Amino acid sequence: MGKDEFIKEAESKLMHTYNRFPMVLDHGEGMYLYETDGTKYLDFGSGIGVYALGYGNKEYNDALKAQIDKLLHTSNLFYNEPALAAAKAVCDVTGMDRVFFTNSGAEAVEGAIKIARKYYYNKTGKANSTIIAMDHSFHGRTLGAVAVTGKAAYREPFEPLIGGVKFAEFNDLASVEALFDDTTAAVIMETLQGEGGIFPADPEFIKGVRKLCDEHDALLILDEIQCGMGRSGAMFAYQKYGVTPDVVTLAKALGCGVPVGAFAAKGKAAEALVPGDHGSTYGGNPFVCAAAATVFSLFTKMNLLDHVNEVAPYLWETLDKIAEEFPCVIAHRGLGLMQGLQFMFAPGDIVKAALKRGLILIAASSNVIRFIPPLIVEKAQIDEMAQILWESIREVSENRK
Ligand SMILES: *Cc1c(COP(=O)(O)O)cnc(C)c1O
Repeated sequence: MGKDEFIKEAESKLMHTYNRFPMVLDHGEGMYLYETDGTKYLDFGSGIGVYALGYGNKEYNDALKAQIDKLLHTSNLFYNEPALAAAKAVCDVTGMDRVFFTNSGAEAVEGAIKIARKYYYNKTGKANSTIIAMDHSFHGRTLGAVAVTGKAAYREPFEPLIGGVKFAEFNDLASVEALFDDTTAAVIMETLQGEGGIFPADPEFIKGVRKLCDEHDALLILDEIQCGMGRSGAMFAYQKYGVTPDVVTLAKALGCGVPVGAFAAKGKAAEALVPGDHGSTYGGNPFVCAAAATVFSLFTKMNLLDHVNEVAPYLWETLDKIAEEFPCVIAHRGLGLMQGLQFMFAPGDIVKAALKRGLILIAASSNVIRFIPPLIVEKAQIDEMAQILWESIREVSENRK
């Protein structure tokens, strides 16, 4: 079957919820992805922040193959060794006390919301809790996660959603304070907003929100599904701010390609859910937990965090030069290997021009290109990316004249 024919058939069978690029990806190696016809791409999207270890890491693949031959699934009616190994690693790196494994990021957010409601219910005996969420936030596509996502277009067609959600302005502490009352069970936010356009929290803001939560005995839920797992230059971005959440959500790079997420909690929040409150058939099965446990051990073994802190400043300088050179680039933001360039226009044509030249970039919000390469990226590949980006921006700006 030719490529065009293949794409036509795929479009007729897969539900049309994405406008996909006309590329049929087949395999990957390190920082590069290959189509079925052999076309090679440098990947600065990591499957949307998933492939921290790069493609085809042998130790990771071998660990998964070994687990396949032992046991894929047990249900949560029994214990399994990989789940404890992964749970210890999550608690160790997050500073949390207990963890629940999910199958996706959105499900981790659902679990975090359930903890907040149950914590409030235990405390007050009332079922009238509210949650403060942020404008421009993104927390996933299930109904609970959509309800706390700060983009009206993602919510409105699916209303009524879960009630009691109020939206504050990210990085505007007064707007959060104004929404607090006796019913506030939690504040949920990303430490570094991803889909919303790569906006890091201001240190004063996140510290202020932590203080407000403490004063009202409300939980601080930090969604680190995208910015966690080393991407910010700390294992979790909140560690850069010296702030500890009550609940943290993980997914994406937690499995590095295997669908696994988690919500982890500390102190009383970690005791809120009891038998009967929550569950998942697949959640935390031996296969995905073997993946997560291996990811954590490879992070240590490969010194990935040190590597991120070595190359991220180089990505910053490189993108700064591009921002200085092209007037259509109006802002450069981010932390670690999660950076964004904001354009004067929707950058879809730049993304397409880059793809034509063999570079995968992904957009965030309506006017930002985000740079979230596998964490193994080297300076030479940042140079390779920059050359293609430069040519692509030049081509698109010429065409717009
Ligand atoms: C991707 C993402 C989610 C949703 O994760 P899924 O695995 O797609 O459900 C939630 N929160 C943030 C911050 C994300 O980036």
